[in-house]
Amino acid sequence: MHHMYFVLAQNVSSEFLLDPIKLLILFATALVASGIVSKLVSDIHRCGLPCFKWHGILIGGLVAGFFAGLFIPTIWISWPVQIIFTMGPILWYWKSRNAVVPEKQKFIIGGAKVRAMFKKRGATKARSGGTLSFKDTNKKDRLNPGKNDPLLPAFQAADKLLSNSLLARASRIDMVVKADGVTTVHTVDGIRNKLESTTPEIAMSMIDYLKDLCGLDVKERRKRQNGSCWVINEEIVIPLSFSIAGSSTGQQMRLDFDRAKNMSRTIPQVGFLPKQEKVVLELADPLARGGVVLVSATAGQGLTSTCLSLLSGHDAFTAAVKTLEKNLIHRLDGVDHQAWTSTQGGVDYPTQLQSIIRRSPDVVYVEDISETGVGKLVAASNNSDIRFYVAVPADGVSACVSEWFKSVGNINLAAEPLRMVIAQKLCRKLCVACRVGYQPSPEQAKKLGITASKPVELYKASGKVQVKNKIIECPMCNGTGYLGQTIISEVFIIDAEARAFLAPKGDFKSAYNASRMKYKLPGMQESALQRVRDGTTSLEEAIRILTPATAKPSAPAAGSAQAAPASTKPASPPSKPKASS
Ligand SMILES: [Zn+2]
Repeated sequence: MHHMYFVLAQNVSSEFLLDPIKLLILFATALVASGIVSKLVSDIHRCGLPCFKWHGILIGGLVAGFFAGLFIPTIWISWPVQIIFTMGPILWYWKSRNAVVPEKQKFIIGGAKVRAMFKKRGATKARSGGTLSFKDTNKKDRLNPGKNDPLLPAFQAADKLLSNSLLARASRIDMVVKADGVTTVHTVDGIRNKLESTTPEIAMSMIDYLKDLCGLDVKERRKRQNGSCWVINEEIVIPLSFSIAGSSTGQQMRLDFDRAKNMSRTIPQVGFLPKQEKVVLELADPLARGGVVLVSATAGQGLTSTCLSLLSGHDAFTAAVKTLEKNLIHRLDGVDHQAWTSTQGGVDYPTQLQSIIRRSPDVVYVEDISETGVGKLVAASNNSDIRFYVAVPADGVSACVSEWFKSVGNINLAAEPLRMVIAQKLCRKLCVACRVGYQPSPEQAKKLGITASKPVELYKASGKVQVKNKIIECPMCNGTGYLGQTIISEVFIIDAEARAFLAPKGDFKSAYNASRMKYKLPGMQESALQRVRDGTTSLEEAIRILTPATAKPSAPAAGSAQAAPASTKPASPPSKPKASS
């Protein structure tokens, strides 16, 4: 026994432990692995994951791998063992990290994010020199123009504009070209930012370059033209929607990056509060079909995305789900999407909707009730077995109901099938990597409905992180302090009691208050404050989205003389949030 131990020890020390080639391999492997781990250590902080735990796991794996490699005699066993010990924790971290970070920040094998992280500085440098490439409308590769190509300035302008916007996580670019100047704006998390402008000549040549990529008529300067192509940024292929229209004053261009990206959400992914989500999910119950559900938001506030998520709640195998859309962005599996365009052989929107309804569908998504006759058709009593989801471009439940009443033109007819009204706004989510916690002042806490007994931590945006005693711009959100958006919503359930207020009296306020009291669902303001309390967003952002845009006239509520409810004034939000629930 003693003898054997001695032999083993002798073998280890003399033959294997000090084998220089083996040591070299083990050291080299440990060096590469520690390089990866040191990159991940700063990544842990950025993702807001528990630092202490993950440092331990990653470094532990590194050390364990090295010593396992050292003490296993045969190199062809010891080396793979070292790799398994070292890589296991790294892969584990990879998986855990992808589960918490937004889609764009995920590491995907071979993905640009991984490479970008290891050569971030190099990538930024290369980008300004032009690294984008394009695929045309048929998804065929388009070679970037060479040095002496007359298209080079046009390409370079497109390259600069698009790569800067992609770097800033913009979802959309708007450009207006007039004879005396160019205005360019891009939208990041719903916030419009003005960009440095180029000359009208270069802007026009860039627009022509994009028109050609999208297969549009380059010479046409007046008619609205829509097209699409693809842009390739760091080997990621991104769909690009392009729209251009001209007038006597100039050209208006709009570019959207990956418009369909947020269109395939399920109801739980939309961002309703738990109480709201429960009642919204019940809408898909096959035994309680029928009725009209109004969904409202103003332009750019995620209306289509939420409507499509409501459709996805219905089982497409057992329910016939149909749509009629003027602006078809994304097709859901199993849903019969129909696009309507004004040029379609003279068939108007209500006529096409009528023909869809005749084929006895179970669920219909109506995108436009502003056309004469649509409201009446949807509210007709012989269609009461059909569930209608109706998109209403209005701000808040009150304005939405008012629009609906106007479209139907008869209070009793309009109130009868109404089942639910959902109103929403988009709200920026705080970047978890750089948000800063603070204790609200007693006044703030009171406003937020926080009881004095339990201390809470709220968060505010910073956009800055500390790396080795240096304060730098947060690389996750590019210093904006926010990353991505979620909805703030209000769900108004209309039952028999609420309906009795709506028709024939048109008393919206009483209907709304009765429903709020009974179902205890949060109003718009309460929902926003709840998202402040749970750290999703900041108090500043909640105030921003709740503050009405004073410049805009309140078009929906005005001028609806005969059919609108008598009390169209918003019943909410009250000037101070209530400290309820
Ligand atoms: Zn950040």
